[in-house]
Amino acid sequence: MKRTARISAALTAALLWFAAAAWAAPAKNIILFIGDGMHLQHEIAASNYLFGADYSLVWHGFPYKNYVTTWDTSTYNLYSIMQGKPTFDPDNFNPIYGYNPEKAGTEPSPMSEDTMERLKYLFPDYSKKTPPLLRKGPATDSASAGTAISTGTKTEHTRIAWDFEGSENGKLKSISEIMRETNGASIGVVSTVPFSHATPATFSSHNKGRNNFYTGFKNYAGFGIADEILTATRPDVVIGGGHPSHNNPKWETTKGYISKGLYESSVSSGEYIFVERRAGEDGAGLLSAAATKAATERKKLFGLFGGADGSFEHPIPRDEPGAPAIDRATDENPLLRDVVLSALEILSSNENGFFLLAEQGDIDWANHANNFSWMIGAMWDLNEAVRAAVDFIDRPDNDLDWENTLLIVTADHANSLMRLNPEKKLAPGDLPEQKCVAALCEYPGDEVFYSTSGHTNELVSVYAKGAGVEEFHKYEGSWYPGTRLIDNTHVFKTMKDAAVGSE
Ligand SMILES: [Zn+2]
Repeated sequence: MKRTARISAALTAALLWFAAAAWAAPAKNIILFIGDGMHLQHEIAASNYLFGADYSLVWHGFPYKNYVTTWDTSTYNLYSIMQGKPTFDPDNFNPIYGYNPEKAGTEPSPMSEDTMERLKYLFPDYSKKTPPLLRKGPATDSASAGTAISTGTKTEHTRIAWDFEGSENGKLKSISEIMRETNGASIGVVSTVPFSHATPATFSSHNKGRNNFYTGFKNYAGFGIADEILTATRPDVVIGGGHPSHNNPKWETTKGYISKGLYESSVSSGEYIFVERRAGEDGAGLLSAAATKAATERKKLFGLFGGADGSFEHPIPRDEPGAPAIDRATDENPLLRDVVLSALEILSSNENGFFLLAEQGDIDWANHANNFSWMIGAMWDLNEAVRAAVDFIDRPDNDLDWENTLLIVTADHANSLMRLNPEKKLAPGDLPEQKCVAALCEYPGDEVFYSTSGHTNELVSVYAKGAGVEEFHKYEGSWYPGTRLIDNTHVFKTMKDAAVGSE
């Protein structure tokens, strides 16, 4: 009797150990790249400029590829009201009011397959007959889209990890917070646009409004986004734009992305190694030295860079058919790849893993301006950064490998309804003639068409490689039966399943 009990206890322990080992979350580290405003056509355009083929960017070789719906509750409500249906209810909604694959397709198809009806659906403002309600724009913004990816919750425009007005929740917990709380993981949030801008903010703060950049900004009395990032969330790595010397030299409280008080406390922080843009100095070199210092002294890193509009000056592609080449606008700002490598140097030292969000935010700005050349420069920057992350994981001198690290590349939403003209294919290194007037560009040669300067409800791409990548499969078609589509909230769910396991 006694003996049987002992055997049974040993067996139970063995079974428990086996179950834990079998169900252990596979991804210790997650690196999430977001190309803000990036649609498949922008990927194809950049791939052709750089490599002379449609699918030659680094992530095009990843084993997991799919398309993602990006609608937010504002989008949903516009479409549902048009059809006399109730507004979004998280416990009872029909995903086809957010995106209808029967009308808009199961893939972001090329222009040759676009019908007028499809275009009107994807961007109702395409038709002047569109009811005024829809002309406000039918698509998500970076705040609600970022929130969907960071927290798995559909919310409305302008919300930063915060639920929509009238919902039961306020503040929503992000994947970075979950991985820190559950696994003891480090957090890194880096971007080419200001560090307190919407996309990085959804992974490092919580706010009802994306423009509440800091406490006191436009008399905002609440806890500002930059304040929350630097004094409450305190990620292990924060690197981005928004440097006040370039962006807000007079410390106006209606401008800028960081307050005077926050800037001054950052410069003299005991917790962070602080590094900033300096005239005449190489930004990548400064950043890399600071990262090494932070790693050696076991401190956090805050890198504050950027130019006049807050963002890093974007790389500029040359118009040289047959010889694609990209010039730096300035060496004083790092490239996204420098930022990612500095972040990884610090984050990879945590044996409990890390979450890193890396955003290339200029793709969206370029698309708002219908600026093809700017978009190509920004896409090159993203491609180089993803390549650097892949190489870092492949390197044998660190703890990262594809069995413990999940790498994802996606977009938060599409923008500009850009289509390449298949009749006038551009050679590698070739840029179309581009005439820009009043911040909007036109293409007299018709090599490329733009239909709006705003966001669209088109599908975006997702690519992934590494630990837990198979977690994506269970969400395929779950909202859109008969398709492989996933929703942007499923990107969050996949990351959570991969990093901390399913409930
Ligand atoms: Zn935008």
